[in-house]
Amino acid sequence: MADNKVVTRFAPSPTGFLHLGNYRTAIFAYLYAKKHDGSFVLRIEDTDRERSKKEYEDNVIESLNWLGLSYDKFYRQSEHLDKHKFYLEKMIKEGSAYVSKEQAKDDSGEIKELVRFKNPNIDVAFKDEIKGEVMMNTKDLGDFVIARNLNEPLFHLAVVVDDFEAGITHVIRGEDHVSNTPRQILIQRAIGAPTPIYAHLPLVLGPDKLKLSKRRGALPLTEYKNRGFLPEAILNGMAFVGWNPGTDKEIFTRKELIKAFDLARVQKSPAIFNEEKLEWFNKEHINLLPKEEIEKNILTWLPENMKNPKLVPIIFERINKWGDVKDMAERGELGFFFKQPEYKKEKLIFKNTAPEKISENLKQAIKALENLDEKDFNQENIKIALMAVADKLGSRGELLHPVRFALSGLDKSPDPFTIASILGKNETLSRLQKAV
Ligand code: GLU
Repeated sequence: MADNKVVTRFAPSPTGFLHLGNYRTAIFAYLYAKKHDGSFVLRIEDTDRERSKKEYEDNVIESLNWLGLSYDKFYRQSEHLDKHKFYLEKMIKEGSAYVSKEQAKDDSGEIKELVRFKNPNIDVAFKDEIKGEVMMNTKDLGDFVIARNLNEPLFHLAVVVDDFEAGITHVIRGEDHVSNTPRQILIQRAIGAPTPIYAHLPLVLGPDKLKLSKRRGALPLTEYKNRGFLPEAILNGMAFVGWNPGTDKEIFTRKELIKAFDLARVQKSPAIFNEEKLEWFNKEHINLLPKEEIEKNILTWLPENMKNPKLVPIIFERINKWGDVKDMAERGELGFFFKQPEYKKEKLIFKNTAPEKISENLKQAIKALENLDEKDFNQENIKIALMAVADKLGSRGELLHPVRFALSGLDKSPDPFTIASILGKNETLSRLQKAV
Protein backbone atom coordinates (compact mmCIF):
# COMPACT_ATOMS: atom_id res chain seq x y z
CA MET A 1 0.00 0.00 0.00
CA ALA A 2 3.08 2.25 0.02
CA ASP A 3 1.83 4.16 -3.01
CA ASN A 4 -1.44 4.98 -1.34
CA LYS A 5 0.05 6.35 1.80
CA VAL A 6 -2.36 8.68 3.54
CA VAL A 7 -1.17 12.27 3.91
CA THR A 8 -3.32 14.77 5.79
CA ARG A 9 -2.63 18.33 6.76
CA PHE A 10 -3.59 21.09 9.13
CA ALA A 11 -3.43 24.44 7.37
CA PRO A 12 -4.15 27.28 9.78
CA SER A 13 -3.86 30.94 8.89
CA PRO A 14 -1.85 32.70 11.61
CA THR A 15 -4.12 35.73 11.71
CA GLY A 16 -5.30 35.24 15.30
CA PHE A 17 -5.14 32.78 18.17
CA LEU A 18 -6.76 29.50 17.18
CA HIS A 19 -9.37 28.13 19.54
CA LEU A 20 -10.44 24.63 20.49
CA GLY A 21 -12.78 24.35 17.53
CA ASN A 22 -9.86 24.96 15.17
CA TYR A 23 -7.74 22.37 16.95
CA ARG A 24 -10.53 19.84 16.66
CA THR A 25 -9.79 19.92 12.92
CA ALA A 26 -6.09 19.32 13.61
CA ILE A 27 -6.96 16.43 15.92
CA PHE A 28 -9.13 14.69 13.32
CA ALA A 29 -6.54 15.15 10.57
CA TYR A 30 -3.82 13.83 12.88
CA LEU A 31 -5.83 10.84 14.10
CA TYR A 32 -6.78 9.89 10.57
CA ALA A 33 -3.18 10.02 9.35
CA LYS A 34 -1.85 8.04 12.30
CA LYS A 35 -4.58 5.45 12.03
CA HIS A 36 -3.55 4.75 8.46
CA ASP A 37 0.19 4.86 9.13
CA GLY A 38 0.27 7.99 7.07
CA SER A 39 1.81 11.36 7.66
CA PHE A 40 0.53 14.62 8.97
CA VAL A 41 1.64 17.96 7.57
CA LEU A 42 1.51 21.35 9.25
CA ARG A 43 1.25 24.17 6.76
CA ILE A 44 1.08 27.74 7.97
CA GLU A 45 -1.03 29.66 5.46
CA ASP A 46 0.60 33.03 5.72
CA THR A 47 -0.01 34.43 2.26
CA ASP A 48 -1.97 37.27 3.83
CA ARG A 49 1.18 39.11 4.85
CA GLU A 50 -0.56 41.96 6.59
CA ARG A 51 -2.69 39.91 8.92
CA SER A 52 -0.29 37.02 9.55
CA LYS A 53 1.71 37.34 12.75
CA LYS A 54 4.65 35.36 14.07
CA GLU A 55 3.06 35.38 17.52
CA TYR A 56 0.06 33.41 16.22
CA GLU A 57 2.24 30.97 14.32
CA ASP A 58 4.29 30.35 17.49
CA ASN A 59 1.08 29.77 19.39
CA VAL A 60 -0.08 27.14 16.87
CA ILE A 61 3.23 25.32 17.16
CA GLU A 62 3.25 25.48 20.95
CA SER A 63 -0.34 24.19 21.02
CA LEU A 64 0.26 21.28 18.66
CA ASN A 65 3.40 20.29 20.56
CA TRP A 66 1.55 20.42 23.83
CA LEU A 67 -1.28 18.27 22.44
CA GLY A 68 1.31 15.87 21.10
CA LEU A 69 0.10 16.27 17.51
CA SER A 70 3.51 15.73 16.03
CA TYR A 71 3.78 16.56 12.37
CA ASP A 72 6.00 14.90 9.83
CA LYS A 73 6.49 17.99 7.75
CA PHE A 74 6.28 21.71 8.40
CA TYR A 75 6.34 24.67 6.06
CA ARG A 76 4.96 28.12 5.52
CA GLN A 77 2.94 28.82 2.43
CA SER A 78 5.05 31.94 1.85
CA GLU A 79 8.06 29.68 1.32
CA HIS A 80 6.39 28.23 -1.77
CA LEU A 81 5.91 31.38 -3.79
CA ASP A 82 8.11 30.06 -6.59
CA LYS A 83 5.87 27.01 -6.94
CA HIS A 84 2.74 29.10 -6.98
CA LYS A 85 4.33 31.28 -9.65
CA PHE A 86 5.34 28.25 -11.68
CA TYR A 87 1.75 27.02 -11.86
CA LEU A 88 0.35 30.49 -12.49
CA GLU A 89 2.64 30.88 -15.50
CA LYS A 90 1.77 27.40 -16.70
CA MET A 91 -1.94 28.13 -16.45
CA ILE A 92 -1.57 31.42 -18.29
CA LYS A 93 0.46 29.72 -21.00
CA GLU A 94 -2.11 26.95 -21.36
CA GLY A 95 -5.03 29.37 -21.31
CA SER A 96 -6.77 28.29 -18.11
CA ALA A 97 -5.87 31.64 -16.53
CA TYR A 98 -5.24 35.10 -17.85
CA VAL A 99 -3.92 38.43 -16.75
CA SER A 100 -6.56 41.06 -16.65
CA LYS A 101 -5.96 44.79 -16.40
CA GLU A 102 -8.62 46.37 -14.22
CA GLN A 103 -9.37 49.65 -12.67
CA ALA A 104 -9.14 49.50 -8.89
CA LYS A 105 -12.50 49.87 -7.14
CA ASP A 106 -11.05 52.25 -4.55
CA ASP A 107 -10.67 56.01 -4.94
CA SER A 108 -7.28 55.72 -6.60
CA GLY A 109 -8.90 54.34 -9.73
CA GLU A 110 -5.49 52.87 -10.58
CA ILE A 111 -5.16 50.30 -13.29
CA LYS A 112 -4.09 47.01 -11.69
CA GLU A 113 -3.22 43.62 -13.08
CA LEU A 114 -4.99 40.59 -11.67
CA VAL A 115 -4.77 36.94 -12.59
CA ARG A 116 -8.18 35.43 -13.22
CA PHE A 117 -9.14 31.79 -13.66
CA LYS A 118 -10.95 31.02 -16.87
CA ASN A 119 -14.06 29.43 -15.48
CA PRO A 120 -15.48 26.66 -17.70
CA ASN A 121 -18.87 27.25 -16.02
CA ILE A 122 -19.70 23.65 -15.28
CA ASP A 123 -21.24 21.63 -12.50
CA VAL A 124 -18.59 20.30 -10.16
CA ALA A 125 -19.41 17.24 -8.09
CA PHE A 126 -17.30 15.75 -5.37
CA LYS A 127 -17.74 13.08 -2.79
CA ASP A 128 -17.31 14.21 0.76
CA GLU A 129 -16.58 11.55 3.38
CA ILE A 130 -18.93 13.27 5.78
CA LYS A 131 -21.44 15.18 3.70
CA GLY A 132 -21.79 12.59 0.96
CA GLU A 133 -22.21 13.68 -2.66
CA VAL A 134 -21.88 17.44 -3.13
CA MET A 135 -22.72 19.11 -6.42
CA MET A 136 -22.28 22.79 -7.17
CA ASN A 137 -22.64 24.92 -10.20
CA THR A 138 -19.66 27.21 -10.70
CA LYS A 139 -21.28 29.57 -13.17
CA ASP A 140 -22.06 32.23 -10.60
CA LEU A 141 -18.42 32.39 -9.59
CA GLY A 142 -17.40 33.97 -12.87
CA ASP A 143 -13.72 34.16 -13.75
CA PHE A 144 -12.56 34.35 -10.16
CA VAL A 145 -9.27 35.97 -9.16
CA ILE A 146 -6.50 33.53 -8.24
CA ALA A 147 -3.57 35.97 -7.83
CA ARG A 148 -2.92 39.67 -7.44
CA ASN A 149 0.04 39.14 -9.72
CA LEU A 150 2.53 36.37 -10.43
CA ASN A 151 4.21 36.91 -7.08
CA GLU A 152 1.09 37.28 -5.00
CA PRO A 153 -1.06 34.17 -5.27
CA LEU A 154 -4.40 34.15 -3.48
CA PHE A 155 -5.90 31.55 -1.22
CA HIS A 156 -7.41 29.03 -3.67
CA LEU A 157 -4.40 28.77 -5.91
CA ALA A 158 -1.98 28.49 -3.00
CA VAL A 159 -4.04 25.77 -1.28
CA VAL A 160 -4.35 23.69 -4.42
CA VAL A 161 -0.67 23.94 -5.39
CA ASP A 162 0.49 23.22 -1.86
CA ASP A 163 -1.82 20.25 -1.37
CA PHE A 164 -0.65 18.86 -4.70
CA GLU A 165 3.05 19.38 -4.01
CA ALA A 166 2.77 17.82 -0.54
CA GLY A 167 0.89 14.82 -1.92
CA ILE A 168 -2.11 15.44 0.35
CA THR A 169 -4.53 12.54 -0.08
CA HIS A 170 -7.21 13.67 2.40
CA VAL A 171 -8.29 17.24 2.96
CA ILE A 172 -9.93 17.25 6.39
CA ARG A 173 -11.09 20.75 7.24
CA GLY A 174 -13.96 22.84 8.54
CA GLU A 175 -17.35 22.96 6.91
CA ASP A 176 -16.82 26.65 6.13
CA HIS A 177 -14.61 25.51 3.25
CA VAL A 178 -17.24 23.46 1.41
CA SER A 179 -18.13 26.36 -0.83
CA ASN A 180 -14.45 26.83 -1.73
CA THR A 181 -14.06 23.26 -2.87
CA PRO A 182 -15.51 23.55 -6.41
CA ARG A 183 -13.12 26.43 -7.21
CA GLN A 184 -10.23 24.41 -5.89
CA ILE A 185 -11.26 21.37 -7.90
CA LEU A 186 -11.39 23.47 -11.06
CA ILE A 187 -7.86 24.68 -10.40
CA GLN A 188 -6.71 21.10 -9.72
CA ARG A 189 -8.05 20.01 -13.06
CA ALA A 190 -6.36 22.93 -14.77
CA ILE A 191 -2.93 22.11 -13.36
CA GLY A 192 -3.31 18.34 -13.67
CA ALA A 193 -3.47 17.64 -9.96
CA PRO A 194 -5.56 14.77 -8.60
CA THR A 195 -8.56 15.71 -6.48
CA PRO A 196 -7.94 14.59 -2.90
CA ILE A 197 -10.59 12.98 -0.76
CA TYR A 198 -12.54 15.63 1.12
CA ALA A 199 -13.96 15.48 4.61
CA HIS A 200 -15.62 18.69 5.76
CA LEU A 201 -16.16 18.64 9.49
CA PRO A 202 -19.34 19.93 11.09
CA LEU A 203 -19.21 23.30 12.80
CA VAL A 204 -18.37 23.53 16.45
CA LEU A 205 -20.97 25.49 18.40
CA GLY A 206 -20.91 26.79 21.95
CA PRO A 207 -23.57 25.65 24.46
CA ASP A 208 -25.62 28.67 23.26
CA LYS A 209 -25.76 27.01 19.79
CA LEU A 210 -23.80 29.87 18.27
CA LYS A 211 -20.62 29.32 16.35
CA LEU A 212 -17.55 29.11 18.52
CA SER A 213 -15.42 32.09 17.70
CA LYS A 214 -12.68 34.25 19.04
CA ARG A 215 -15.05 37.12 19.52
CA ARG A 216 -17.48 34.98 21.47
CA GLY A 217 -15.06 33.91 24.15
CA ALA A 218 -13.45 30.87 22.53
CA LEU A 219 -10.05 30.78 24.18
CA PRO A 220 -6.70 29.98 22.63
CA LEU A 221 -5.68 26.41 23.37
CA THR A 222 -2.66 27.60 25.35
CA GLU A 223 -5.10 29.11 27.83
CA TYR A 224 -6.20 25.54 28.65
CA LYS A 225 -2.57 24.60 29.08
CA ASN A 226 -2.11 27.53 31.48
CA ARG A 227 -5.18 26.49 33.45
CA GLY A 228 -3.64 23.11 34.10
CA PHE A 229 -5.64 20.86 31.80
CA LEU A 230 -3.99 17.63 30.70
CA PRO A 231 -3.25 17.50 26.97
CA GLU A 232 -4.50 13.89 26.84
CA ALA A 233 -7.84 15.07 28.21
CA ILE A 234 -8.16 17.88 25.65
CA LEU A 235 -7.29 15.44 22.90
CA ASN A 236 -9.90 12.99 24.13
CA GLY A 237 -12.54 15.60 24.90
CA MET A 238 -12.16 17.43 21.59
CA ALA A 239 -12.12 14.19 19.60
CA PHE A 240 -15.61 13.66 20.99
CA VAL A 241 -16.85 16.98 19.63
CA GLY A 242 -18.60 15.72 16.52
CA TRP A 243 -17.34 12.16 16.67
CA ASN A 244 -17.98 9.12 18.81
CA PRO A 245 -16.73 5.57 18.61
CA GLY A 246 -20.22 4.06 18.59
CA THR A 247 -19.79 2.46 22.02
CA ASP A 248 -20.28 3.69 25.58
CA LYS A 249 -16.57 4.04 26.16
CA GLU A 250 -15.61 7.69 26.53
CA ILE A 251 -12.17 7.74 28.09
CA PHE A 252 -9.53 7.08 25.47
CA THR A 253 -5.78 7.32 25.50
CA ARG A 254 -4.02 8.70 22.44
CA LYS A 255 -3.30 5.20 21.17
CA GLU A 256 -6.89 4.11 21.64
CA LEU A 257 -8.16 7.18 19.82
CA ILE A 258 -5.89 6.49 16.86
CA LYS A 259 -7.20 2.96 16.71
CA ALA A 260 -10.86 3.86 17.08
CA PHE A 261 -11.04 6.99 14.95
CA ASP A 262 -13.04 6.76 11.78
CA LEU A 263 -14.31 9.50 9.46
CA ALA A 264 -17.46 7.49 8.87
CA ARG A 265 -18.52 8.15 12.46
CA VAL A 266 -18.11 11.91 12.27
CA GLN A 267 -21.56 13.41 12.66
CA LYS A 268 -23.11 15.58 9.97
CA SER A 269 -24.88 18.03 12.24
CA PRO A 270 -23.06 20.79 14.12
CA ALA A 271 -21.28 19.66 17.25
CA ILE A 272 -21.64 21.31 20.63
CA PHE A 273 -18.61 22.16 22.68
CA ASN A 274 -19.20 22.16 26.38
CA GLU A 275 -16.53 23.30 28.81
CA GLU A 276 -18.03 21.37 31.72
CA LYS A 277 -17.76 18.18 29.78
CA LEU A 278 -14.13 18.98 29.05
CA GLU A 279 -13.55 19.39 32.79
CA TRP A 280 -15.11 15.98 33.28
CA PHE A 281 -12.75 14.46 30.72
CA ASN A 282 -9.88 16.13 32.51
CA LYS A 283 -10.81 14.71 35.89
CA GLU A 284 -11.15 11.25 34.38
CA HIS A 285 -7.68 11.56 32.89
CA ILE A 286 -6.25 12.81 36.19
CA ASN A 287 -7.70 9.65 37.72
CA LEU A 288 -5.62 7.58 35.31
CA LEU A 289 -2.36 9.11 36.60
CA PRO A 290 -0.19 7.38 39.19
CA LYS A 291 -0.71 8.68 42.73
CA GLU A 292 2.76 10.16 42.94
CA GLU A 293 2.18 12.16 39.77
CA ILE A 294 -1.07 13.58 41.15
CA GLU A 295 0.63 14.52 44.40
CA LYS A 296 3.54 16.11 42.59
CA ASN A 297 1.24 18.24 40.43
CA ILE A 298 -0.98 19.36 43.29
CA LEU A 299 2.06 20.38 45.31
CA THR A 300 3.51 22.22 42.33
CA TRP A 301 0.33 24.26 41.89
CA LEU A 302 0.06 25.15 45.58
CA PRO A 303 1.52 28.47 46.73
CA GLU A 304 5.00 28.24 48.30
CA ASN A 305 3.72 28.47 51.90
CA MET A 306 1.08 25.76 51.49
CA LYS A 307 2.97 22.85 49.98
CA ASN A 308 1.83 20.30 52.54
CA PRO A 309 1.41 16.70 51.28
CA LYS A 310 -1.29 16.11 53.90
CA LEU A 311 -3.59 18.42 51.95
CA VAL A 312 -3.34 16.38 48.76
CA PRO A 313 -6.31 14.04 49.34
CA ILE A 314 -8.78 16.80 50.21
CA ILE A 315 -7.62 18.97 47.33
CA PHE A 316 -7.74 16.05 44.93
CA GLU A 317 -11.42 15.47 45.71
CA ARG A 318 -12.25 19.05 44.86
CA ILE A 319 -10.46 19.70 41.59
CA ASN A 320 -10.98 18.95 37.92
CA LYS A 321 -7.74 20.49 36.71
CA TRP A 322 -4.49 21.63 38.29
CA GLY A 323 -5.41 25.30 38.04
CA ASP A 324 -8.27 24.63 40.49
CA VAL A 325 -5.61 24.01 43.15
CA LYS A 326 -4.33 27.54 42.77
CA ASP A 327 -7.89 28.91 42.67
CA MET A 328 -8.79 27.11 45.91
CA ALA A 329 -5.77 28.59 47.61
CA GLU A 330 -6.52 32.06 46.23
CA ARG A 331 -10.14 31.90 47.35
CA GLY A 332 -8.86 31.31 50.89
CA GLU A 333 -10.30 27.81 51.12
CA LEU A 334 -7.05 26.37 52.43
CA GLY A 335 -5.82 29.19 54.64
CA PHE A 336 -7.33 27.73 57.82
CA PHE A 337 -4.97 24.77 57.62
CA PHE A 338 -2.12 27.16 58.25
CA LYS A 339 -3.61 29.75 60.55
CA GLN A 340 -6.19 29.76 63.36
CA PRO A 341 -9.39 31.00 61.75
CA GLU A 342 -11.13 34.16 62.93
CA TYR A 343 -14.91 33.98 63.14
CA LYS A 344 -17.95 35.32 64.96
CA LYS A 345 -18.76 33.03 67.85
CA GLU A 346 -22.46 32.84 66.88
CA LYS A 347 -21.35 30.85 63.86
CA LEU A 348 -20.52 27.92 66.14
CA ILE A 349 -24.17 27.48 67.04
CA PHE A 350 -26.15 24.76 65.38
CA LYS A 351 -29.74 25.73 64.60
CA ASN A 352 -31.45 26.79 67.89
CA THR A 353 -29.14 25.03 70.27
CA ALA A 354 -28.31 27.05 73.38
CA PRO A 355 -24.76 28.43 73.42
CA GLU A 356 -24.08 26.73 76.76
CA LYS A 357 -24.98 23.41 75.23
CA ILE A 358 -22.64 23.98 72.27
CA SER A 359 -19.87 24.87 74.66
CA GLU A 360 -20.55 21.73 76.70
CA ASN A 361 -20.50 19.60 73.53
CA LEU A 362 -17.20 21.06 72.46
CA LYS A 363 -15.75 20.15 75.86
CA GLN A 364 -16.94 16.59 75.35
CA ALA A 365 -15.26 16.52 71.96
CA ILE A 366 -12.02 17.73 73.53
CA LYS A 367 -12.21 15.02 76.17
CA ALA A 368 -12.76 12.32 73.58
CA LEU A 369 -9.89 13.51 71.42
CA GLU A 370 -7.53 13.96 74.32
CA ASN A 371 -7.85 10.24 74.91
CA LEU A 372 -6.43 9.52 71.47
CA ASP A 373 -2.73 8.97 71.33
CA GLU A 374 -0.83 11.41 69.10
CA LYS A 375 0.21 8.51 66.85
CA ASP A 376 -3.38 7.28 66.53
CA PHE A 377 -4.68 10.72 65.67
CA ASN A 378 -5.89 9.83 62.18
CA GLN A 379 -9.13 10.42 60.36
CA GLU A 380 -10.61 7.04 61.14
CA ASN A 381 -9.95 7.13 64.88
CA ILE A 382 -11.07 10.73 65.18
CA LYS A 383 -14.31 9.83 63.47
CA ILE A 384 -14.92 6.87 65.79
CA ALA A 385 -14.21 9.02 68.84
CA LEU A 386 -16.42 11.95 67.80
CA MET A 387 -19.25 9.79 66.53
CA ALA A 388 -19.40 7.99 69.87
CA VAL A 389 -19.87 11.37 71.57
CA ALA A 390 -22.43 12.48 68.98
CA ASP A 391 -24.46 9.31 69.40
CA LYS A 392 -24.42 9.74 73.16
CA LEU A 393 -25.69 13.30 72.76
CA GLY A 394 -28.37 12.12 70.39
CA SER A 395 -27.56 14.83 67.80
CA ARG A 396 -24.76 14.77 65.30
CA GLY A 397 -25.26 18.34 64.18
CA GLU A 398 -24.98 19.77 67.69
CA LEU A 399 -21.53 18.29 67.96
CA LEU A 400 -20.12 18.06 64.46
CA HIS A 401 -21.15 21.53 63.33
CA PRO A 402 -19.36 23.45 66.11
CA VAL A 403 -16.33 21.16 65.87
CA ARG A 404 -16.06 21.61 62.14
CA PHE A 405 -16.59 25.34 62.36
CA ALA A 406 -14.12 25.74 65.21
CA LEU A 407 -11.50 24.01 63.09
CA SER A 408 -12.14 25.75 59.77
CA GLY A 409 -14.02 28.98 60.42
CA LEU A 410 -15.78 28.39 57.09
CA ASP A 411 -19.40 27.66 56.17
CA LYS A 412 -18.17 25.07 53.72
CA SER A 413 -15.16 22.87 54.35
CA PRO A 414 -14.13 19.23 54.42
CA ASP A 415 -15.52 17.14 57.28
CA PRO A 416 -14.14 17.75 60.78
CA PHE A 417 -12.39 14.37 61.00
CA THR A 418 -10.31 15.06 57.93
CA ILE A 419 -9.45 18.57 59.03
CA ALA A 420 -8.50 17.43 62.52
CA SER A 421 -6.26 14.67 61.17
CA ILE A 422 -4.43 17.19 58.99
CA LEU A 423 -4.11 19.80 61.76
CA GLY A 424 -2.81 17.23 64.25
CA LYS A 425 -3.75 16.70 67.85
CA ASN A 426 -2.28 19.86 69.43
CA GLU A 427 -3.65 22.30 66.91
CA THR A 428 -7.07 20.62 66.90
CA LEU A 429 -7.38 20.78 70.67
CA SER A 430 -6.18 24.36 70.75
CA ARG A 431 -8.84 25.42 68.23
CA LEU A 432 -11.57 23.57 70.10
CA GLN A 433 -10.48 25.14 73.39
CA LYS A 434 -10.61 28.58 71.89
CA ALA A 435 -14.13 27.85 70.65
CA VAL A 436 -15.23 26.74 74.12
N1 GLU B 1 -6.13 28.41 5.99
C1 GLU B 1 -7.48 27.99 6.05
C2 GLU B 1 -8.10 28.36 7.36
O1 GLU B 1 -7.38 28.66 8.30
C3 GLU B 1 -7.63 26.50 5.86
C4 GLU B 1 -7.49 26.12 4.45
C5 GLU B 1 -7.77 24.65 4.20
O2 GLU B 1 -7.83 23.87 5.19
O3 GLU B 1 -7.89 24.27 3.06
O4 GLU B 1 -9.28 28.35 7.49
